Amino acid sequence: MTMKTHTVYAGKLAIGGGHPISVQTMCNTDTLNVEQSVAQCMALVREGAQMVRLTTQGPSQVIALAQIKEKLRLQGVDIPLVADVHFSASTAMEAARVADKVRINPGNFSRDRSRVNELLAELFGICRQHNTSLRIGVNHGSLPSHILETYGNSAQGMCQAALEYLSICRKMDFPHVVVSLKSSNTRIMVQANRLLAQKMEALRMDYPLHLGVTESGSDRQGRLKSAVGIITLLKEGIGDTFRVSLTEAPEAEIRFGKLFLPVTKDRSQPVSWDELIVSASYQWAPGLLDGTIDWQKLPMPFVKAPFASKEELTDFCMDLLQATRCVFTRPEYISCPGCGRTKFNLEETVRQVKKATSHLNGCTIAVMGCIVNGPGEMADAQYGYVGEGNGRVTLYKGKTPVMRGIPQNEAVERLLELIESQQK
Ligand code: SF4
Repeated sequence: MTMKTHTVYAGKLAIGGGHPISVQTMCNTDTLNVEQSVAQCMALVREGAQMVRLTTQGPSQVIALAQIKEKLRLQGVDIPLVADVHFSASTAMEAARVADKVRINPGNFSRDRSRVNELLAELFGICRQHNTSLRIGVNHGSLPSHILETYGNSAQGMCQAALEYLSICRKMDFPHVVVSLKSSNTRIMVQANRLLAQKMEALRMDYPLHLGVTESGSDRQGRLKSAVGIITLLKEGIGDTFRVSLTEAPEAEIRFGKLFLPVTKDRSQPVSWDELIVSASYQWAPGLLDGTIDWQKLPMPFVKAPFASKEELTDFCMDLLQATRCVFTRPEYISCPGCGRTKFNLEETVRQVKKATSHLNGCTIAVMGCIVNGPGEMADAQYGYVGEGNGRVTLYKGKTPVMRGIPQNEAVERLLELIESQQK
């Protein structure tokens, strides 16, 4: 059954309301570097991106965003630009005068809960004046404290955090809103979105849904996590737009995401590893995520592809079983895609961390690009490597920072020492 949603516009892009599902991504450039950001937006448009988000930390990034938009428009490129705003309602308001859409996070929109209605009313007013839409973007790992107290860090909590904001949107008659519930845990991401779809239907709400598995990592493991979460929901008719999140260049997110569409395409003859990820996710992910397929009874390998050996396919199946959280036979990596806040070479760091820790089966390790959002968003990782900026890193054990100010060139080694000392 397809979830019925109303149409929300981001610039000229129609989201929801039965319009085609769109594929989007986020720049990983410094937004203040206007030339680089414009060049990356252009490259993303050439790959087929339909919407691009840029990190917008404060007033100077809002000014840069306006310049980026103007330069793109002068070159005839009208891709909608989304401002990603955290921890600053005033920045969201400034960004709403410039961007086509603004993403806010209920976990950090305002520290003062009593002011949320008033601040949203002001933001809606600016959005109406400038034809700007919003995304209420809830992330597992950065839920508001009152939600955590009542629901814990759960799918229910994520759903409730979104519904509180959506109820305000409805009460104030502001329909130009897309909603997202993201987690790096594929089961929680799927549960949360299903729950939200049910609750919205019961409440007669029809806001479009943006899907994504956040901090899913890189390479095959990252692709599998994104694919199993997003494709499971798309098959159920849930989701109007999505972002594949990878710790890789944003062009790679678009190239891979485009393979998910159209949802009805025959996927029985994959000719590449990426196509196999998508086809296996269509066929196996819903049953493996929900437990309706008993993975222990499956023959190995249980997927077929003419280009791969039996051993390679068996290895692939173990990755699929891990992405669907059936069994953990390798280390689990959580890493953010990076954005304008990232102050080091994230992709290379993830490669080094993976190389140094590949023997730590079952261990969950996060590598996050910034100290502002990283610690909250690394969810249930046992260990974290978080960039502080200025070439320094903080290492975490769970949510606790245990070593601060480590020079980046020593940090992978120190992380390994930390994990090994704890495991003894
Ligand atoms: S955690 Fe990563 S993606 Fe998220 S804001 Fe920080 S650097 Fe950007």
